[in-house]
Amino acid sequence: MNVIREMEQSGHEQVVFVTDPPTGLRAIIAVHSTALGPSLGGIRFWHYADDDAAVHDALRLSEAMTHKAAVAGLHQGGGKAVVLWDDPLEERKPALLHALGRAVHELGGRYIAAEDVGATTHDMDSMAEVTPWVTGVSTPGGSGDPSPVTAFGVFCAMWAASEHRWGEGSLRGKRVVVEGVGKVGAELARLLVAKGAIVQISDVDALRVKALVDELDVNPLPVDAVLRTPCDILAPCALGDVVTLETIDELKCEIICGGANNQLASDEVDAALADKGVLFVPDFVANAGGIINIAQEFTGYSRDQAMSEASRIQTTTAKVLATARAWDLPPGEAAVRMARERIQVDASPSGRWEPGDPAAWTNGAPLTKVRP
Ligand code: NAD
Repeated sequence: MNVIREMEQSGHEQVVFVTDPPTGLRAIIAVHSTALGPSLGGIRFWHYADDDAAVHDALRLSEAMTHKAAVAGLHQGGGKAVVLWDDPLEERKPALLHALGRAVHELGGRYIAAEDVGATTHDMDSMAEVTPWVTGVSTPGGSGDPSPVTAFGVFCAMWAASEHRWGEGSLRGKRVVVEGVGKVGAELARLLVAKGAIVQISDVDALRVKALVDELDVNPLPVDAVLRTPCDILAPCALGDVVTLETIDELKCEIICGGANNQLASDEVDAALADKGVLFVPDFVANAGGIINIAQEFTGYSRDQAMSEASRIQTTTAKVLATARAWDLPPGEAAVRMARERIQVDASPSGRWEPGDPAAWTNGAPLTKVRP
């Protein structure tokens, strides 16, 4: 893999490779863009097939964060970190998290960390002992776990997509398949059941499926049946690359709208879905609740305010789908164009955020959190 060439092609500003032999830390921090403000994005602890796969994931996820922040109307850029983490059950020692925190700190605020798959609020708290450039902490003023806000945002996006597709947003009686019932998927299932949707769930973790079946009126599905199960809405809430050019023919849904990042394996799938008549809500539009939640932390956090801000995802989704229709483009491509247009208009004059300038990351409001 030629990392520099890939960075150039995708427009990445900076990629940092981190090792700390005493603790075994191996991580990649990708800063895609700081044109609208410091890059913000989660840290993913994951087992990758090889190092190239980890780099590729960091590049794709950080680019999507740039688009997500831009379409959500935030003054933030896009970044992401991945930690090569082979055993999900292995305990994370403070020394390792401090080493990761120091690497984030050395970027001087150009990358602000948050939770992603595999990460916990406890990890954020531990990193926050060595750097202020971390969000989602449990201490006063911290926004904690963003997943409930993300799930609510996905629900709002589904409502808009239903309105676009069927002329009414109500999800009552709609058949929804939720793939992955972790932090986001489980909460989304709760919201859907509360609104009268007929929900089926699947997860590679059988214990999570059982816990949710015991708690809610939902039915389990085998993992390999997710794509081919007839439903109105498929909600991918596990990992990315769910729909590929090879699996697209299996789909028996009318809408795809979920919380997972990078749900489509390639840009071609976006166009192929439109050809097939499946309405795809771009993942970075639907799952922006997490980043919207974190952004509240900069100006004084309140969960009610975060939920209220996340409810705007309904109008944003409606706008993206209407624009895609007007431009005669698949929704994913239209949303990326909308993000780039916003960046052109609102980018800082130098095109990059300068450490020490807090203005861009307070979304214009007074800074209430003291950062060095
Ligand atoms: P999580 O780790 O809590 O949950 C993911 C779940 O998916 C787990 O239960 C896991 O067992 C399951 N899973 C993995 N592979 C699967 C497969 N092939 N089939 C079925 N289930 C599978 O993570 P999360 O925080 O709920 O995030 C879910 C997705 O949403 C991720 O793609 C994440 O990047 C994205 N996302 C999360 C947030 C957030 O606020 N947590 C914000 C934006 C985007």
